[in-house]
Amino acid sequence: MITSSQLKAEQATRSDTVLAGDYYMQVLKAGQTLRILDLEGNQAADTLFYSANDPSERYSAMDTIREQGNVYLTTGSKLLSNDGNEMLEITADTCGRHDTLGGACATESNTVRYAIEKKCMHACRDSWLLAVAENPQYGLSKRDITHNINFFMNVPVSSDGGLSFADGISGAGKYVEMTAAMDVIVLLSNCPQLNNPCNAYNPTAVEMLIWD
Ligand SMILES: [Zn+2]
Repeated sequence: MITSSQLKAEQATRSDTVLAGDYYMQVLKAGQTLRILDLEGNQAADTLFYSANDPSERYSAMDTIREQGNVYLTTGSKLLSNDGNEMLEITADTCGRHDTLGGACATESNTVRYAIEKKCMHACRDSWLLAVAENPQYGLSKRDITHNINFFMNVPVSSDGGLSFADGISGAGKYVEMTAAMDVIVLLSNCPQLNNPCNAYNPTAVEMLIWD
């Protein structure tokens, strides 16, 4: 559902630009609101969430989909943890639909899906692994990299249950906003994928804004 936000960018307490191929790792406190802004359009932002107090509690696609009875995420979606607790709620969305089924790109899946020569290409899973290695204070490791949300990514589910990576429905200046219900670690890979149309074959920057 398309819902605009009343929050003003100039009143944000923090703002970071994340280039395609880079990661963003930040704690969002309970009550704070995070906006992911698709600066140039057609980007995919592969995102994981963990409880800051106990990172073994983390975003669960299965629990979220089951409880809301919908495979897509948008305004009103409560992002649930593997313990069934609400971690965040999407409070504004000018894109209209986000994927949580397609998973993140990895060197392994690039090899299987596209070509053996794609093995050395930059991928979201590597960005997450770099993030947890460079930020040991969060206590995360490779085993904590689980299923994720692909904000702005268009992964339509067909009537026979198939998935496809389709051209994006996001555009320049579109955003999604969510308010934290607990202190969460946000781990985002701004997708560098060049082999499918999730980024329109042109990965671009996103901006991350936080309001208290
Ligand atoms: Zn990716």
